[in-house]
Amino acid sequence: MNPDKDKEKPENVERDHSLDRMKLKAAADAAKNPVVPEQLTLESSLRFRCYPGIDCFTSCCSDIDILLTPYDVLRMKKRLGISSDEFLERYTHSRIEEKTGWPQLFIKMEEKEGRPCPFVTPEGCTIYTDRPAMCRYYPVGQGIHRRRTEEGVENEEFYMLVKEEHCHGFQEEKEWTIAEWRDDQGAEHYDEMVSPWKDIFIRRLTREEEEDGRKQTVFFLASYNLDQFRRFVF
Ligand code: SF4
Ligand code: SF4
Repeated sequence: MNPDKDKEKPENVERDHSLDRMKLKAAADAAKNPVVPEQLTLESSLRFRCYPGIDCFTSCCSDIDILLTPYDVLRMKKRLGISSDEFLERYTHSRIEEKTGWPQLFIKMEEKEGRPCPFVTPEGCTIYTDRPAMCRYYPVGQGIHRRRTEEGVENEEFYMLVKEEHCHGFQEEKEWTIAEWRDDQGAEHYDEMVSPWKDIFIRRLTREEEEDGRKQTVFFLASYNLDQFRRFVF
């Protein structure tokens, strides 16, 4: 079914992107290694369908690390009509990413049985049209090859499937290419919006930038708390 099945496996990747590895780790924590060890391209195919009424509906929206990008935060806080401060306080938690030493932001799951996402209801996601990029891509994960060439450093994106037991969307008949899935979910626009920000993370991962505590603080502010960053700048 998959035309790319004999391509290079993810473990051969020279360097990958911490951001994307965190996405995959989040899924891996929820079930035993649900990441299919097969590197996909935009042309690779995927058999999957997700819709209200499927028997596993919203089962993927609990007890999971949803990594947020600055654009996710901007969209979500606007959708909710609240300030960055309030959004960060009510809906997120952060932790330092080991390899980069820089902070990352996640949706704070609710402190009740099953640890549901604060935005999930039996009818689905209450912020669906502004849901984060990671939710858009699911069940597809992203990775990045970073290569040095004569022209400089090149980033090449690749994809992989996250097949969790509770997700029955893989039993459906609908077929897509990864590109069609990405397009259907509006993920390309999200990627474009955070591309320069991702690049900063990659450079940190490859130690192309020196560690600097002040930079770390400003990076967090500029990434996630634009209201406060604006006050800081002006
Ligand atoms: S933001 Fe929406 S789609 Fe993402 S985990 Fe929460 S409820 Fe589910
Ligand atoms: S578990 Fe899979 S099929 Fe079920 S709602 Fe979530 S993404 Fe859709």
